[in-house]
Amino acid sequence: MKEFINEDFLLQNEFARRLYHKHSEGFPIIDYHCHLSPEAIATDRRFEDLGQLWLEGDHYKWRAMRTNGVNERYITGRDTSYREKYDRWAETVPMTMRNPLYAWTHLELKRVFGVGRLLNPSTAVEIWDECTALLRQPEYSARGLMKKFNVEVICTTDDPIDSLEHHKTLRNEGFEIKVLPAWRPDKAMSPEDPSKFIDYIGRLEEVSGTEIKGFASLIEALRNRHQYFADAGCVISDHGIEQFYSEDYTEKEVGVILRKVLTGSPLNLEEISKFKSAMLYELAIMDAERGWVQQFHYGAIRNNNSRMLEHLGPDTGYDSIGDFTVAKTLSKFLNRLDTGGNLTKTILYNLNPRDNELLATMTGNFQDGVTPGKIQFGAGWWFLDQETGMINQLNALSLMGLLSRFVGMLTDSRSFVSYPRHEYFRRILCNMLGDDIEKGKLPESEIETIGKMAEMISYYNAKNYFGF
Ligand SMILES: [Zn+2]
Repeated sequence: MKEFINEDFLLQNEFARRLYHKHSEGFPIIDYHCHLSPEAIATDRRFEDLGQLWLEGDHYKWRAMRTNGVNERYITGRDTSYREKYDRWAETVPMTMRNPLYAWTHLELKRVFGVGRLLNPSTAVEIWDECTALLRQPEYSARGLMKKFNVEVICTTDDPIDSLEHHKTLRNEGFEIKVLPAWRPDKAMSPEDPSKFIDYIGRLEEVSGTEIKGFASLIEALRNRHQYFADAGCVISDHGIEQFYSEDYTEKEVGVILRKVLTGSPLNLEEISKFKSAMLYELAIMDAERGWVQQFHYGAIRNNNSRMLEHLGPDTGYDSIGDFTVAKTLSKFLNRLDTGGNLTKTILYNLNPRDNELLATMTGNFQDGVTPGKIQFGAGWWFLDQETGMINQLNALSLMGLLSRFVGMLTDSRSFVSYPRHEYFRRILCNMLGDDIEKGKLPESEIETIGKMAEMISYYNAKNYFGF
């Protein structure tokens, strides 16, 4: 019997295999949005064992374990070892069939460690021993893993107040993989909790050397940090927002709202919405001035379980897909920027798959006839980063836009072993194209052209779009 992760995993016909092996597999990885720790790269972090590598921060796995009835002690508990947690994970893996975790786990075992066996309670011990021994080898450090996967560029996710010291260290050392910061100013536009916001503004004042007395000085402080990020090689911004904000406002109104929250008074919904609208717009202008790419990840409903939020904090696996209405606000936001000549390259990522066609058509409203694929419908994200989610995103994009101009896949990951997700995406893409050829929906005579398209989506489009 063939191994599960074999050469032709997910490639169902000869055309698909040819496209993948000849036109996609060998290209370097450009991971233009991830959450890797710059410190871990700068210090070339080593991992103790397979349990730590896999279970330290992966809330996808944590959710599956909870659903499988594993006690929280063996998921995030401080009084249990990674070995104990790993054993519970190994029991859970066979239960994850048809969840992408099943394929990812085995892709990681195969591509990172060369282990082709399936993980379950009966193989858990030998797989632990084999992988943990390999993790002690120098080529399994953070940097070693990045090199192993032929990574060319990554963009981390950083707060405007971050010193970017680790990025600078890497640059000064001349680390051969480009590790660039990305500007994520979410905290600067989140006044919902006045005390947290006041604390943040205080730190922003310090690092920018700007006293923030009103809206203009807040923008000045951020502009100062934007320049600082640009000096460190940043070319991308990212926003994690529930929805788009494009209320009408005057600077005077926003100034009053800002001063109110800075005195510690909570804002009402209308004030929050106006403040966010003003911030989103001003931040987009900064990105346009520098010709950066702006990204928007929207639509998550976060921290749904208040009991667990209290216990574990945010980003621990209690977020899900929201149902925010965005067509009109997004259109108004993009249109205002476009009208003022301030619309920079933009990537839009939805979390609710209901919005696939909405985004695929919205992007077409603001293409400029100069930059190919200037406004992008981003790859399937988070809960949609799986076979069906990717296929649906690729289909909507193909049918209502130009698949050929797509900048392709990113991991959005916190783990150094998530790079096989690029492979997963490339196989799905090539299988889709190969299937179309086999069914006569695309001409077999054009397989070289279709191969070039696979190369562009796997690599060249991202390289050109971001200017790497
Ligand atoms: Zn992200």
